[in-house]
Amino acid sequence: MLPKYEGLKGKAAVVTGGGGVLCSCMAKELARQGVKVAILNRTFEKAVTVAEEIKQNGGEAFAVECNVLDLESVKKAEEMVYHTYGACDILINGAGGNHPKGVTTKETFDLSDLQNKEITTFFDLTTEGFQFVFNLNIVGTLIPTQIFSRRMVGKKGTIINISSMSAPSPMTKVPAYSAAKAGIENFTKWLSVHMAEAGIRVNAIAPGFFLTQQNEKLLKNEDGTNTERTEKILAHTPMRRLGNPEDLLGTLLWLADDETSGFVTGISVPVDGGFMAYSGV
Ligand code: NAD
Repeated sequence: MLPKYEGLKGKAAVVTGGGGVLCSCMAKELARQGVKVAILNRTFEKAVTVAEEIKQNGGEAFAVECNVLDLESVKKAEEMVYHTYGACDILINGAGGNHPKGVTTKETFDLSDLQNKEITTFFDLTTEGFQFVFNLNIVGTLIPTQIFSRRMVGKKGTIINISSMSAPSPMTKVPAYSAAKAGIENFTKWLSVHMAEAGIRVNAIAPGFFLTQQNEKLLKNEDGTNTERTEKILAHTPMRRLGNPEDLLGTLLWLADDETSGFVTGISVPVDGGFMAYSGV
């Protein structure tokens, strides 16, 4: 169990995508630290489940139905959070992900792929797929940041974006996701500079490979065994395993707490079992 971060007690946090695998784990840990947590999720039921579990364990939380791509929906959520907990101190932009229409079937292109209708090549990718992924990750970070950080101005606030190992160097098959996450890292730096004198710190966490619903098809075969891609990932991860959501929590608390990371802004912290450091040789 992680130590108590006294600086976090009584703060108000907003976790978008808080009904998901990684961010529900973050929301629960923040609540365990005495943070009041608003769980924002497009699918309301998922947020309710997380909020209920937190409350059952003695924490403070409430669920809000919110689509991070819809300005009015985020504004409404912000008003609810403000009236319940006051101004948000910690914003975690966790809603994000990929879309099958932004994914190629193969890692690299071969001329013969053009004759095979079963293969989605680079040429088959749709702007619709790219737009979905760019919107969800970039606009879905921009809107909540604009809306929730307004009341952070002038007091110490912190924003944590969720990047990925596809940001520093793009992963095969997922060009839209990789470009979107690279955009998140760039935006994190930009905003950290823009908001530094306003007292807002902006950082990112870049998880390595975690088995969750959204990547299950890429990482596991139907019979539960590892796909070739998973074996490749493990071969490139010096710690030789996939991450567990709990692996993110130490970094989350450190970045969230002004007492521990008060002079840290504009960075993206890899939590990847050494994946980024390893050249593969
Ligand atoms: P997840 O699908 O379990 O969680 C995402 C949550 O966001 C879901 O509850 C979903 O309902 C919600 N959501 C989707 N669209 C939304 C919208 N428009 N408005 C509000 N909520 C919306 O995914 P996860 O694996 O927990 O991923 C969380 C974040 O971590 C994402 O940004 C993802 O890209 C990133 N990430 C994941 C991994 C991994 O290995 N799973 C690795 C690196 C980065």
